[in-house]
Amino acid sequence: MAIRKIVKYGDPILRQKLKHTDYEALREELPQLIKDMEETCLSVHGVGLAANQIGLDYRLAVILIPESDKKNASLKRIVIINPEFEDKQGELVEEEGCLSLPGLWVEIPRATDVTVRFVDENGQPRRVRARGLLAKAFQHEIDHLDGKLFIDYADPVLKTAIKKEIKKLRPTWN
Ligand SMILES: [Zn+2]
Repeated sequence: MAIRKIVKYGDPILRQKLKHTDYEALREELPQLIKDMEETCLSVHGVGLAANQIGLDYRLAVILIPESDKKNASLKRIVIINPEFEDKQGELVEEEGCLSLPGLWVEIPRATDVTVRFVDENGQPRRVRARGLLAKAFQHEIDHLDGKLFIDYADPVLKTAIKKEIKKLRPTWN
């Protein structure tokens, strides 16, 4: 396993709409790639990582949501390949961050309930309904695959402040 370098804001690949992924063509390298992406994501306490965040042009992302009940703490792992929204409902404004813009937190609107179709790491078609953090993670990661970032949803006044904040934060990124 290997921790990959996370691409930071300013790299053009974060603004790229990623290519439809041919599951069969990727099948052999997929297990290692997913392990690397999960390890990279966990190493920085992220809840999701898209392929372009490690410099790859695949419509692929991993989602790792911490789950806990009274007895156990565990992780809900979802690998999404070629995902598409079937439905989005509701709206909630909450603070969000991104591993490609570390240290920046911005309040943006997201749908509260989503239904997503995708292919999983075994090549199986899946349809998942999600709420809460998982719904947010689906929206954040699928945006990455379309070259969008969470800061795009900020209102114009906030965008000016964000630009200044990014200038301040950039020297701390590597
Ligand atoms: Zn992100």
